[in-house]
Amino acid sequence: MLVRDNAGMATSAALTEVAAGVFELRLPIPFEDGLVNVFLFVDGTEADLLDCGMNSEESVAEIKQAMAQLGAKRLRRLVVTHIHPDHYGAAGSLAGEGMADLYIHRLEVPLVHPRYVELEHLVSEVRTYLLVNGVPATLAEELSNSQRALSQVVKTAEPSVQLDGAESLQMGRRHLRVEWTPGHSPGHICLFDRQDRLLFAGDTLLPELSPNIGLHPQSTPDPLHDYLGGLRRLAAYDPEVILPSHGRPFTDAPARVKVLEAHHRRRLDQVVDIVGRGKETGWEVALELWGPRNQFYEKRLALQEALAHLQALAVDDRVSKSVTPESVRWTPA
Ligand SMILES: [Zn+2]
Repeated sequence: MLVRDNAGMATSAALTEVAAGVFELRLPIPFEDGLVNVFLFVDGTEADLLDCGMNSEESVAEIKQAMAQLGAKRLRRLVVTHIHPDHYGAAGSLAGEGMADLYIHRLEVPLVHPRYVELEHLVSEVRTYLLVNGVPATLAEELSNSQRALSQVVKTAEPSVQLDGAESLQMGRRHLRVEWTPGHSPGHICLFDRQDRLLFAGDTLLPELSPNIGLHPQSTPDPLHDYLGGLRRLAAYDPEVILPSHGRPFTDAPARVKVLEAHHRRRLDQVVDIVGRGKETGWEVALELWGPRNQFYEKRLALQEALAHLQALAVDDRVSKSVTPESVRWTPA
């Protein structure tokens, strides 16, 4: 699909010119809707890339083939919206010594090593987190180990630049502003092209999905408030086109933000209700919200999402939170 009539031609099934000199490439992933969108910005015989898909041979080959098709001989910089495997996985195949420079928000940097390289400490931290939040012991053991598979589709790279947010980055021939939007991940960034009002929204603003906002050992302490604050800032930009990481380009960010805010408001009210009925642990609240889930991945996401809502409610003084080394409990305020 072309975003604007004058934006150019679709050059192949997977590669589309979404704005002058900006090409969307859709790469295969085994989750979400099965595709992640990455963006190549061309500048003569060089190119810059926003996000890079997972580290599989076919996915990396697709990026290289797209570059060749566009006449780009060298990848200059790789900017990553956040370090989840579908956005960051191939970083080590494209960036580092003798390859592209990697740009990433500095709050993402410390997440990489424990998550993808040296997992033992994080696995034990996650096990404790699951236990104190009411997950039964045998399930906690299984869930804490479910992260290991993901590290196999990620090849890490050292960042050349650690971003704070609010920088201006040259991507292709465009200059984009870095917008730090924590919530889905602590150092998630979006890129905004002020001149053409294009918003590269990563996973923060998606046309169909509500991104997972979870409280867990690697999250910010109040990710839901962080996320909602970021959405409001993006809506205020009133971009002409939003280019998301999953799904198709869309318009009317303020309307989409209203839908997402309403979704979370409803869920917050539901959680207040559930706590009012005497459910005290994050796990009990998650089970009330979604019922038992089949996959490990979904179970963990459900718990994380329930906890993000509970934490936001505690911050707003709508539920009370008490902690001991053994448990985290939520009760009516
Ligand atoms: Zn994603």
